[in-house]
Amino acid sequence: MTTDEYFMTLAIQEAQKAERMGEVPIGAIITKNGEVIARAHNLRETLQQPTAHAEHLAIERAAKVIGSWRLEACTLYVTLEPCVMCAGAIVMSRIPRVVYGADDPKGGCSGSLMNLLQYNDFNHRAIVEKGILQDNCSQLLTNFFKQLRHNKKSTK
Ligand SMILES: [Zn+2]
Repeated sequence: MTTDEYFMTLAIQEAQKAERMGEVPIGAIITKNGEVIARAHNLRETLQQPTAHAEHLAIERAAKVIGSWRLEACTLYVTLEPCVMCAGAIVMSRIPRVVYGADDPKGGCSGSLMNLLQYNDFNHRAIVEKGILQDNCSQLLTNFFKQLRHNKKSTK
């Protein structure tokens, strides 16, 4: 297992925590110099907060730990491709490297719909590695939505 795969398994564990709470299973980890400094999972339903995405919460926590809004020398691991808001937060926090699992063809702004992380005119661009443990990451989401549809059917 590579280092990236190892940290992605931790992000997947975060996603599983979200799933147990009935949240869409997405998890994120931020490392600095090879150590985990923040972990978070999606809490949008629990908090009824549109910004409570896993990466966004992890960025807030990491900034608190470091004591700076600049997340230099950090790597963000997230199970699903960052959306427009989270890609924006990554640029604003200067995270130099982003590793994600599954593509999000409907909302991903880190390569799928657009690529805000590598947009030339911004003063910050991140290195992006995608497809790390992709099958595990997308399976979590597929199973979650399958279960959701199943539950809806059985309550009708
Ligand atoms: Zn997001």
